[in-house]
Amino acid sequence: MDLLEYQGKQLFARHGLKVSSGKAVTTVDDAVAAAGEVGYPVVVKAQVLIGGRGKAGGVKLAADESEVHEHASNILGMDIRGHIVRTLWIEHASDIASEYYASVLLDRQVLQPLVMFSVEGGVDIEEVAERTPEKLIRHHVDALAGLSREEAVEIATEGGADADVIGGVADALVALYEVWLAEDATLAEINPLIVTPEREVRALDSKVSLDYNALYRHPDNQGLSDSENEDPIERRAKEEGVQYVKLDGDIGILGNGAGLVMSTLDVVAQAGGSPANFLDAGGGSDAEKIKQAVDLLLANDAVKAVLFNIFGGITRCDEVARGLIAAFEAIKPSVPFVVRLDGTNDVEGRRLLQEAALPNVHAAKTMNEAAEMVVALAAGQPVGAGA
Ligand code: GDP
Ligand code: MN
Repeated sequence: MDLLEYQGKQLFARHGLKVSSGKAVTTVDDAVAAAGEVGYPVVVKAQVLIGGRGKAGGVKLAADESEVHEHASNILGMDIRGHIVRTLWIEHASDIASEYYASVLLDRQVLQPLVMFSVEGGVDIEEVAERTPEKLIRHHVDALAGLSREEAVEIATEGGADADVIGGVADALVALYEVWLAEDATLAEINPLIVTPEREVRALDSKVSLDYNALYRHPDNQGLSDSENEDPIERRAKEEGVQYVKLDGDIGILGNGAGLVMSTLDVVAQAGGSPANFLDAGGGSDAEKIKQAVDLLLANDAVKAVLFNIFGGITRCDEVARGLIAAFEAIKPSVPFVVRLDGTNDVEGRRLLQEAALPNVHAAKTMNEAAEMVVALAAGQPVGAGA
């Protein structure tokens, strides 16, 4: 779960990282009012979940009211590589002596936290890593011990931070590590980490991603998801506690269990199809749960056919079939369904479906057969006998 810059900065401040004061607003009038409160000069900053806002014209300095008005008008509604700006962050402008870079993430190959630091900040850090890798310090941290201040001082020194701000940079690194650890972030990045002419070290930007699966441990962070920019169906699924992912194709996929859903995606792709979304119905088989799942899948207009793939274990196929029948009677889906029932009580499940004679529902016995059927149906081709 990616945070907007100003939300990341709120987490930074919570852990003692220095940030500039500012206000988030959504209208030009509020931007002007916020600038008055924050104090001129200010920076008007587009809040979107994508970097490179400065280059795209989404970060502008303003010396007075008329400039804030002008920049806020221009930036609100701006499309930054597919992200429409709906929120602005109005921040008191900083004077900048140097722009550094700092980040913390998990190095999955080494299975250790990785702290990175460079005095070549402000720019695209991938470029620094490629052209002058010696200028990007990579330091692995003992996860049990955490990042000590001594280690942080070494990182800052090795990276070539100005001698008089090594302490300030070390403090920032320790605080950033704490943000990453305590907030269950997958990434905590500052670019640029600035040094002011007064030699203060401060985070001028933030990029924080939180581990969605750990969000239940952080009630304070639960309101942070950028719901306006989120896919509305994904948001609904989250609220309903359903695992749902939107993709780009035209076949809806529903299965029980993450492993089965993943292999269903593969089989559909092999059959030449392209999934529009997938949904893990989990262990539930009652009509209400299945109805909810079907509702969610069909909320995506791109879906032309649905593959419902159930492997019965503890979940019995006859129960699933009953749930499906009840759900279909309530929803009356307008697109064809292929239902594959296999495992516990599958014969009974298929018999129930056949008896119910639901329009546009086709039963399949194997996954491959089901995939071929659903790909044909999505392409508007007829398939063999219905259920
Ligand atoms: P990004 O382009 O999305 O990474 O947005 P940033 O927040 O990093 O801002 C881009 C650039 O704008 C920074 O690298 C700075 O050079 C400049 N900038 C941002 N805030 C200020 C500020 O308060 N004062 C000054 N002088 N420049 C700023
Ligand atoms: Mn930046």
